[in-house]
Amino acid sequence: MPSLRRGIEFLFGQTNEQRLRKLLPIVEEVNGWAERVARLSDPELRAKTDEFRARLSSGETADDLLPEAFACVREAAARTIGLRPFDVQVMGAIVLHGRRIAEMKTGEGKTLVATMPAYLNALVGKVHIVTVNDYLARRDRNWMGPVYEFMGLAVGLLQEDTPPDERRAAYACDVLYGTNAQFGFDYLRDHMVASRSQMVQGPLDYAIVDEIDNILIDEARTPLIISGPTADTARQYREFARLAKLFKPGEDFEVNEEQRRLSLTEAGWAKAEQILKFDNIADPRATTARYHLETALRARTFFHRDQQYIVKDGRVIIVDEFTGRLMPDRRYSGGLHQAIEAKENLPIQRENQTLAQITLQHYFRLYRGLAGMTGTAKTEEEEFKQIYGLDVVQIPTNRPLIREALPDVIYRTKKGKFEAVADEVERLHKEGRPVLIGTTSIEDSEDLSRLLKKRGLSHQVLNAKYHEKEAHIIAQAGRAGAITIATNMAGRGTDIVLGGNPESRARAEADPEAEPERFRELVERYRAEAEAERERIVTDAHDPAYLKAALARIREWCAEVGRPFRPEEWEGGIKRGGLAVLGFQRHEARRIDDQLAGRAGRQGDPGSSQFFLSLEDDLLRIFGGERLATLMAKLGVKEGEAITHDLLTRSIRRAQKRVEERNFEIRKRLLEYDEIMAKQREAVYALRERFLLPDPGETPDDEALRAHLREMVTEYGEILVDRFAPGPSPEAWDLRALERELGQVCADPPRDLSPRRREELGEAVGDLLRSQLDQQWTRLAPHFPMVARIVLLRTMDENWRQHLLELDEVREGIGLRAYGGTDPLVEFKREAHRLFQEMVLRAEEEALRFLLNPRLSVRAEPAGGRGAPPPVALAQSGGSTSTTAGRDVVRSAPRRPAGEGKVGRNDPCPCGSGKKYKHCHGR
Ligand code: ADP
Ligand code: MG
Repeated sequence: MPSLRRGIEFLFGQTNEQRLRKLLPIVEEVNGWAERVARLSDPELRAKTDEFRARLSSGETADDLLPEAFACVREAAARTIGLRPFDVQVMGAIVLHGRRIAEMKTGEGKTLVATMPAYLNALVGKVHIVTVNDYLARRDRNWMGPVYEFMGLAVGLLQEDTPPDERRAAYACDVLYGTNAQFGFDYLRDHMVASRSQMVQGPLDYAIVDEIDNILIDEARTPLIISGPTADTARQYREFARLAKLFKPGEDFEVNEEQRRLSLTEAGWAKAEQILKFDNIADPRATTARYHLETALRARTFFHRDQQYIVKDGRVIIVDEFTGRLMPDRRYSGGLHQAIEAKENLPIQRENQTLAQITLQHYFRLYRGLAGMTGTAKTEEEEFKQIYGLDVVQIPTNRPLIREALPDVIYRTKKGKFEAVADEVERLHKEGRPVLIGTTSIEDSEDLSRLLKKRGLSHQVLNAKYHEKEAHIIAQAGRAGAITIATNMAGRGTDIVLGGNPESRARAEADPEAEPERFRELVERYRAEAEAERERIVTDAHDPAYLKAALARIREWCAEVGRPFRPEEWEGGIKRGGLAVLGFQRHEARRIDDQLAGRAGRQGDPGSSQFFLSLEDDLLRIFGGERLATLMAKLGVKEGEAITHDLLTRSIRRAQKRVEERNFEIRKRLLEYDEIMAKQREAVYALRERFLLPDPGETPDDEALRAHLREMVTEYGEILVDRFAPGPSPEAWDLRALERELGQVCADPPRDLSPRRREELGEAVGDLLRSQLDQQWTRLAPHFPMVARIVLLRTMDENWRQHLLELDEVREGIGLRAYGGTDPLVEFKREAHRLFQEMVLRAEEEALRFLLNPRLSVRAEPAGGRGAPPPVALAQSGGSTSTTAGRDVVRSAPRRPAGEGKVGRNDPCPCGSGKKYKHCHGR
């Protein structure tokens, strides 16, 4: 048999069926260990972990250990939490270990699947398991924790409110559960600290991302941002909001709804020039005004209250268009959020300055190993492959999937559709079937709710606001007679069990920790009830067409799992009924529809899904709705009537595919922009890491620092010579200015740099600066290295923030320049590169002007930080700048460049006290 590793590598670039076939022998191997592992006592099983570690250090690889290790986890899971992974779950686990995406339907038990690769990979590094919200992280950690602990591994949990010290401890665990945002923010924060001991995260070895399509595709456009407030620009936004009302669509500007873009017409330009009093709107001075105007128009044209956003407590809150979920912590960028606030006449939140940012894609690309799982990945296979190098493997279900996918029904008007859905809910409810209605907007769910209420149908409405509470409701959505309206993300990750989830029901009445007896009793009682309910919801199927279709699906399943198909085995047991899923709209992405439909028919249960559409739905309105409308009018379809036809369903799928492709292009494009910033970010982070302050007990590498400073100084010398003595001919030189400049940073400034050959000049300046560096180093010993680190970190961080702001501006400006026919990306790349170079040089110059300054003095201060490096105060030009080493160095970076050594009287004091300078150190 070829080695397992070769077996795993072999899987790339093959059809799903071929990939699956390769997995089977490995599953057999895992099964082959079952008996031996089952005979082990608990302590013997636990001891396997040490044995594996020893074998790994003597040359075996994780791949070699896989079958035995997975068998051990399987056994441990059975002994601790009573779940023994099925073969298909082992298949999924092998895929995750192979750094790929396992597509496994809802309810297949992905949480348990993750334990196997997590255990194996935790033997060689740190494992992060990434969930979509805090509630799921907590649930999964508590649920699966015993498995790892039984095997002797430490499991941690990361929550939004976890304090830094506990975070560090969490990251020290072998396996850590947390959300994408928490992991991402910790990465950013770790690169804003002053010394290594303040970092929390540790190595990014291996991550398993649950619901990976949601994180890498739906959330792809929303970066994680750490920000702070900037100047006040509220008036401007109000003014432009007022102006925007004077511009008419179609006349003053043209709208491209499909691409969400608008452009001013000739008439529009003229109007803008007149109102804004610019001779020519193309005037670069008018760029800001022009940008503000277009933003204000976009806010009016494409962003509608209760669709793209809601207004609550005087704030504009974004509604995620994919999921209908509220995103109170996010703001539109580029001034759009303020423009909407101005349009709505709300207080305008101060614009924030980005201090650090990263997109989730870039964060997850930092992991040495990345794997993912979800119920829906196949439709975006190309994107996963191209952008993340991740293959998708579709794992067969544990039991055949017999859900009925009914054809779409299309109504002429939205109103007709509402009534039809309500009728259908009523009909299904009478049959006793649980009904789940999926919407994409909060508005729709509320309208539908009102309609159902009028008909006396009691129901629950969920919009992904209260993850934990909604998870419990969703867990009961499978009970007989339950009606649940939910937006896409509501309760994602929670299983809908027919008859209801007995444990979740019991938990609502008894705390399993505090009252274990009562809890168990309740679970027993509800389990029996759920069984009885299930009987009522599920009925024997008699419809021959249904039986035929179900058998066809079972035959497919048998082929997938490599099992002989014998119809007589199944015929008697085929059921109908179960959870009915009604889609209130076809979403832009087929994947989101599939997620919803996949709520029904879990683990071989019967169930059905059907989508209700109207010509007024966005998807149809934008894509080919007109042709359909004419057709329906010709056919004489009335408001309450519907048409349904396979052809229509297919053409809608085609329209969706087009939107998906377009969105992929947009994401790819955005990614290319982000790529540029990511490279720069990595360079800056790597640089600042060299300047981190030493932790207590750590001996800093001062020699390396000195070598680095010498290089910087040499470069600085070259810059000065270039600046003041450009070109070979001395006529163009300004040696007096060069002397003055050097006088600022040298104890013994040159009295006369008489003209000589340029190389000689360069050398003389270089020597001078290097000797000044040596003087400072000696004069301020032993403090100089520490001072240098503080100053370098501070100037680097300050300039990097400034640079982020500039990049934003350039990106916006370039979007406008795209009219000129140049490729905006190429333009952006060039500009970003130039700005970056400038930024690095500027930061270095600032730092050196400070550090070489002959008047720089250092005095030790008595105050001590909590385990922080010894505090020093820097004084320059009369002691105006002082700072304490430690975390605050970065946080309290003065707004002005350190090198200037002066602070305005009304500026915040650079000591970080938060007081004005004149009231603090300026007194
Ligand atoms: P998914 O994330 O794939 O939707 P979950 O991890 O939430 O699924 O699990 C769904 C349900 O399946 C849970 O109720 C869980 O207890 C059950 N389950 C998972 N694996 C097994 C197993 N091997 N044996 C029995 N039940 C299982
Ligand atoms: Mg899940």
